[in-house]
Amino acid sequence: MCLSRLACVLMNLLSYLYAHMAAPLIQLIRLVIWLVLLSAVFVPLERLFGLRPREIFRKGVGTDLVYYFLSSLAPGLCMSLPLAAVAWSAHRLLPAGFLGAVAHWPLSFRIATSLLLGEIGFYWGHRWSHEIPWLWRFHAVHHSPEHLDFLVNTRAHPVDMVFTRMCGLVPLYVLGLGAPARGSASLIPVLIVLAGTVLGFFIHANVRWRFGALEQVIATPAFHHWHHSNDGPDVINKNYAPMLPVIDRLFGTLHLPAREQTRTYGIDQTIGPTIVSQLVDPFLPERRSTEPAADETA
Ligand SMILES: [Zn+2]
Ligand SMILES: [Zn+2]
Repeated sequence: MCLSRLACVLMNLLSYLYAHMAAPLIQLIRLVIWLVLLSAVFVPLERLFGLRPREIFRKGVGTDLVYYFLSSLAPGLCMSLPLAAVAWSAHRLLPAGFLGAVAHWPLSFRIATSLLLGEIGFYWGHRWSHEIPWLWRFHAVHHSPEHLDFLVNTRAHPVDMVFTRMCGLVPLYVLGLGAPARGSASLIPVLIVLAGTVLGFFIHANVRWRFGALEQVIATPAFHHWHHSNDGPDVINKNYAPMLPVIDRLFGTLHLPAREQTRTYGIDQTIGPTIVSQLVDPFLPERRSTEPAADETA
């Protein structure tokens, strides 16, 4: 009797653990597999075609790995509720006829419209993160490395990640292009975020490739490396778009010389030396000015 009760308790415990731990565990395993695949692609590419010499296990790689998992998990957890609220409100405020018409657009047109609107939203979210001092505190974490490689893509404060993604996705949800849990409609923002993330690893990669006229069409390492430039006031605060350089051309922030590459990366200000201080400091009233040098990845 006692044994059967114990077995029953154990079974209940196991089923509880399975129900509550399976999804996060699967997500974690998925991220590890992605990391292995990304490393298998980018590490050899950066060794063979590197723009600058860079060690694989360079200083700060541990911090960037923590950022990789944090940046992959935090936005999804933080954005699902606000985006659902935006979609719910928009569906009540906008005329039903308008949303019905959008729903009947051809899929290719909905994807193209979503891509363009999302890019404009991401562009302005990113630009505001540079121009508004309070937002810059969070975004400075991403600009602190004095060298770039593919892993710097996910080196970002969760507040920065969530804010920029919200700017890119809210217009889609307002217009009914990304209503959550509605079949293909919810697939479009997922595809856009996935494409932006995959391209994000590439445009941060330490590779010296140039792509000629194609660089005007789609973001490349040279395009985004200029965004991380610390070469002087003429070239900083350029190239904000995540995928389409034409958005920077439209708003007057494109800087993409045909042959020249940026000479230095990073920022002049200091940020916290540990990941904990980097996550906490932006919330504090004043940045400590006595911290050691910013870059851990040098
Ligand atoms: Zn930036
Ligand atoms: Zn970047």
